[in-house]
Amino acid sequence: MANIERSLVLIKPDAVQRELVGEVLGRFEKKGLKLVALKFTSIDEATLEEHYGHLKDKPFFGDLKKFMMQTPVVAMVWEGLGVVDEVRKIVGSTNPREADAGTIRADLSMNVPSNMVHASDSLESAAIEIKRFFDDVELFSYEKLTDRFHFGEGI
Ligand code: UDP
Ligand code: MG
Repeated sequence: MANIERSLVLIKPDAVQRELVGEVLGRFEKKGLKLVALKFTSIDEATLEEHYGHLKDKPFFGDLKKFMMQTPVVAMVWEGLGVVDEVRKIVGSTNPREADAGTIRADLSMNVPSNMVHASDSLESAAIEIKRFFDDVELFSYEKLTDRFHFGEGI
């Protein structure tokens, strides 16, 4: 099927601390995206330097790394039609106070770096980020009864 993509999502330490993991996961699930990988994992500093390499010269980089190492994170891969953009839409803008109402960041958070979720920002970064957190054997392909509604002709 055309346009079936995969995106990496991390549920960040603020959501873990605030007991909002289920709430966040449920938003992607309810949308009809397909969960193809899931783990609870801590991120070390070297991995963060890679993952947030585009921010290494920012004054908040140290705080961001410290924040991301406060607890393990929930790492997930979601699959679906145009899923990279869909997930970013569900997550909302980086600054929760500028995010649209209805998004995870606007509805559940107020600040950075504690904005609940990471989501891949392009197909290219999704491919790199999925490999960063998952081995091939941890990624699953399977049929779901709802696939024909969400991925097929819609009937
Ligand atoms: N961040 C921050 N201060 C800022 C901008 C970003 O602490 O001024 C943190 C925030 O947690 C954000 C992450 O750095 O989610 C990665 O920033 P990016 O610009 O990639 O935003 P995202 O892709 O997460 O929306
Ligand atoms: Mg980003």
